[in-house]
Formats: sequence, structure tokens, C-alpha cells
Amino acid sequence: MSQPLRRKAVFLDRDGVICENRDDYVKSWEEFVWIPGVKEALSRLKSHGYITIVITNQSAIGRGVVSRETVDKIHQRMGEEAAERGGKIEKIYYCPHKPDDSCSCRKPEPGLLLQAAEDLKLDLRASYLVGDAITDIEMGHKAGSRTIMVKTGKGLSELAEKARWKVRPDYIAQDLSEAVNLILELDSAEE
Ligand SMILES: [Mg+2]
Ligand SMILES: [Zn+2]
Repeated sequence: MSQPLRRKAVFLDRDGVICENRDDYVKSWEEFVWIPGVKEALSRLKSHGYITIVITNQSAIGRGVVSRETVDKIHQRMGEEAAERGGKIEKIYYCPHKPDDSCSCRKPEPGLLLQAAEDLKLDLRASYLVGDAITDIEMGHKAGSRTIMVKTGKGLSELAEKARWKVRPDYIAQDLSEAVNLILELDSAEE
């Protein structure tokens, strides 16, 4: 009997990959600024059959800086604007906790990624994780996915600290757009 086909996903971090990072957190839709080329990159992922999932630490909720309702509204708008350009964000998972809450869903813990794989029957080894922080890369690595670090957001300052990294990204790309080019190239070489 053949196994049901498990699907490939591209897991994306949000702040620093999709939207500009803010030291004081994205607290409203007005503070959400798309990084150039991202909507188009999301559209290419969809047209090539990838499932796009966003996994994000939103400790601003646990810190009382922003409410869950507001975060959900921001994500709804983000999904709508991506869809207007032909992209599709399948699902967004976020950790609302603070770093010292010791939860299992805050990156670098892989809790949310594993949850997504369970929910959507994903093939983690054939999936990719794109992030701007080494904690994103650690999460992807723990789950057995291929990892790409982008230089947008915190990427460049993270790269400056690479002597201290416990894990290394499999690839480094300029931004999400270049990461998507890389994913398409890697996968077409495998077929
Ligand atoms: Mg980030
Ligand atoms: Zn958490």
C-alpha cells in the first residue's frame, strides 16, 4: 500500500522576513511594513505548489504590549494583501509567551513547526525554513528541515555573530525573494 503523499512547506518567520522588524514590536497594521519583493515571492511559492506557513514569536502579547485580537487582525490583513497578489499564507502559528515563560512553542523550540506538520501532514525533510535570526534556523534544524537565513531584518547583525552559533543555516540569501529562487532551483535539481 502506498503512503499518502506528505506535502512540502516553506516555513517563514514574520518580522525581518515578511515585514520590517521594529525594536518596539509591530503593534498595529499601520506599523506593518512589507519588505520589498515579499508579496511577489509568496505568489511564486503558491504557483509552484508550496504550502506557506508563518511561524512567529510574538512575545509582545505576553508582555502586554499588544492584544491577541490585534495580532490576529494584523495577520488577517497580511493574508488578504498576500492573496491580492496571488500568494497564499496557509496558516499562521504564533507563540504569545515571554522568553522566561519556558514554553515549548517559542523559537528556537520546534513546538509550532511540529504542530504545523501534524495539522497539515507535511514532509518536514522536504520542507524549508526561512528566517532572519539564528533561533529560526535552530528551530528548522531541530525539525530536520532545510534552513535559509536571509540578510533582511536582523540577518546581517546575526551573521556578524556567527562565531557563536550552535547551528549553521544550510544557505544564506539576500532576502525572501532570493530564498524562493534558491528553493525552486534546489527542488528542480532534485526532480
Ligand atoms: Mg525575525
Ligand atoms: Zn510559547
